[in-house]
Amino acid sequence: MESNFWDEVLKSLEKSFSPQVIQTWFKPLKINDMRGDVIFIEAPNKFYKNWVEDKYLEELKKIFKDEFNIFSDIKVIIGNELTKQTNETPNESSSIKSPVTYQGSSTNLNKQHTFESFVVGPSNQFSHAAAIAVAEGYFQTYNPLFIYGGVGLGKTHLIHAIGNKILEKFPKLKILYISSEAFTNEMIYSLKSKSMDNFREKYRNIDLLLFDDVQFLAGKTRSTEEFFYTFNTLYDMQKQIVITSDKEPSEIPDLEERLRSRFSWGLLADIQPPSVDEKIAIILKKSEEMNIYINNEVAAYLAENLKGNNIRDLIGALIRLNAFSTFHNKPISIDLVKKSLDKFMLKKDTIVTSESIIDAVCSYFNLKIGDLKSKKRNKSVSFPRQIAMYILRDKLNLSLQEIGDEFGGRDHSTVLHSINNIQSKIDNEPELKSIINSINRKLNK
Ligand code: ADP
Ligand code: MG
Repeated sequence: MESNFWDEVLKSLEKSFSPQVIQTWFKPLKINDMRGDVIFIEAPNKFYKNWVEDKYLEELKKIFKDEFNIFSDIKVIIGNELTKQTNETPNESSSIKSPVTYQGSSTNLNKQHTFESFVVGPSNQFSHAAAIAVAEGYFQTYNPLFIYGGVGLGKTHLIHAIGNKILEKFPKLKILYISSEAFTNEMIYSLKSKSMDNFREKYRNIDLLLFDDVQFLAGKTRSTEEFFYTFNTLYDMQKQIVITSDKEPSEIPDLEERLRSRFSWGLLADIQPPSVDEKIAIILKKSEEMNIYINNEVAAYLAENLKGNNIRDLIGALIRLNAFSTFHNKPISIDLVKKSLDKFMLKKDTIVTSESIIDAVCSYFNLKIGDLKSKKRNKSVSFPRQIAMYILRDKLNLSLQEIGDEFGGRDHSTVLHSINNIQSKIDNEPELKSIINSINRKLNK
């Protein structure tokens, strides 16, 4: 648990320090204990201890205070079990390793991400079912399986779960999990070290390729090409390919057409943001895994009030909450949630008004309020205006007349037409939906 908390601290440190500083100085530390008003941080040896105390103590205190609401003293201690490893002084450049981080039979699979630890609900049911089908060995049926959805909704978890399950059932198969970024880095490294033959050999000899975050290939011609050939080779040999992306293929900008079309050969499955009920189920499951006691009432409160719809953030909040509770030695209650997670909660008192909606629409489209309310008919104004009308109706339930009045006295049939226009497209145009979601989020801040 403490190590999870340290990961959260590391994430917060990313705002203030370069990845190298974090890698060199903060990664080797861990939280040893949290008692009274002192946090004990364990350093591998005296060298780290002195360095951190001299340079980073104040920043660490500030992070605990600003990010975790923990006002405390920090003591750096030296850990016994780690002393052996690190007698040499760390060298900043030593942290830059070759991107080839695995060899031979390594699968890169994360053992934690299994189907058993994945909570299934309406938002991810379809992707989950498709993943299970592939994991059961129905290889050719859904090839490629393309799973897409927003950040932190479980794509990486699911793709590892497929790998773990297949590994368990068919231990002889060659399975490889790789993110498109790691693939790109490895390719660049192989080009530089003139080992492209090995690279190709490795990728074209796989039974199950789990390729994460394909959207990052967009615009990268050389790695797209390598991936394209890898894809074709594996596909022709009837090997299974599973791909994830934050958008569906048609929405990924700058993706080569030939890849786009291949992605739609198999099955496209989406993951949507979780509902409140699903969030409750995830909170209860995760807290059980993390050995934290959270009752149903607190779980429901968190699910309803935490900002955002992202499961990664939900887990981050749980870790913070648990750290706060450990530190103050208090059980987790709604009151404790309010104290420790204030910044992460929706402000219920943000009152949505017609002004705030019009403001939010203008700021999203970078328009002047005067223009939005004007009679201008060009699309750059009329489209945002229709969206504003739609949201006014949706959020405030204003009458057509009242909405018309907001826009310089337009008649109700114009308003109705605008609202219907948006309404009819919203389910079929993900981009439109995402614009409206984004404006709604702004309203709730
Ligand atoms: P993505 O790849 O879509 O950005 P991840 O798979 O990395 O998201 O998920 C973020 C975190 O949330 C991970 O810790 C993952 O284990 C957890 N998670 C996501 N969806 C679920 C779920 N349905 N049940 C349990 N944990 C989940
Ligand atoms: Mg991911």
